Amino acid sequence: MKNNSLKEIAKVLSEAESVLLFPHLNTDGDAAGSCAALCRALRIMGKDAWILLEDDIPANLLFLDKGYSTADKDKIKEPDICMCIDCGDTGRFPERAEKFLSGKTTICVDHHMTTEYFCDLNFVDSEEAATGQIIFDLLKEMDVMPDAEIGEAIFAAITTDTGDFQYSNTQKKSHLIAAELYDWGVDFNKVSVEIYENVRMEKIMLKNKAMETLRIIGKGRGALLCVSLEMLRATGASMDESEGLAQDLRAISGVEYSAVLKEYEPDVIKVSLRAKREGNVSEIASRLGGGGHLKAAGCTIRASLAEAERMVERELEAAIEELGKNEAKRNI
Ligand code: 5GP
Ligand code: MN
Repeated sequence: MKNNSLKEIAKVLSEAESVLLFPHLNTDGDAAGSCAALCRALRIMGKDAWILLEDDIPANLLFLDKGYSTADKDKIKEPDICMCIDCGDTGRFPERAEKFLSGKTTICVDHHMTTEYFCDLNFVDSEEAATGQIIFDLLKEMDVMPDAEIGEAIFAAITTDTGDFQYSNTQKKSHLIAAELYDWGVDFNKVSVEIYENVRMEKIMLKNKAMETLRIIGKGRGALLCVSLEMLRATGASMDESEGLAQDLRAISGVEYSAVLKEYEPDVIKVSLRAKREGNVSEIASRLGGGGHLKAAGCTIRASLAEAERMVERELEAAIEELGKNEAKRNI
């Protein structure tokens, strides 16, 4: 499995007339920011470029969409290029999979460990903290003058996927890119206020309710909670507003693994998994049919909330036990 060069991908993009961009379902800041940056660059280059969505963008990321997004699969009838960004299998955009595969050329740009090389052209690098960093490099290969709006979208991608430059995936490169974005005229505080200080009261109420289900397991090294449809109904929050809870649990002293179980539909439970220092949640997620990164991963379990909770708890307990064994070995 080999990457194409970004130069090759830039060349193919420059020769296309129409490009459709595919972020993953439950679009996050990295997917939305990466797509917005590239979409704007392609339009400046005179291309017919759109971001195709199958669900709503979270409210705090709407500022990135300056008329780039559509849910209309016929916006571009026969796209020269279909490009998936921040995701690497059609399962991450199920309703749009058929449209994606209809592209004359398909391209994948992603940074997930579990990504398969399934497109005509692929660039996957799990060392990169955010897909936005790869898009930054790609823009350098493209014939386009960067501007503040592109820079703000790149910054949105990097700040969200690195936990505002705090997570263990943060690199020197992440900071260097942010430094360069000063020269593009980016208003960093504006972007940060849009993303982080734009919280609906409903989200706070949801967090309050969800915290009532918090359980500490594995002698204090695991934490998990559930977000049910009933909580959404009671608070008026939407499920994307449960974002951040897994990080909140990981932040508890002594906790190494955290899990948040989200009841999207009865018997459709999406799980967010996080590890702090030693753990690998990508492995756990893979065992449960999902994937992701070392410290942040996820999966969808088709079972009741209670059953899914038991399955996740068993996995966390096993991982915590493994952690204990490794520590014991190191101390011999
Ligand atoms: P989150 O918990 O924020 O939804 O996701 C954390 C990370 O795990 C993200 O980078 C995301 O792409 C990945 N991830 C979440 N759910 C899934 C899934 O069902 N399949 C795969 N392959 N990755 C996932
Ligand atoms: Mn990402």
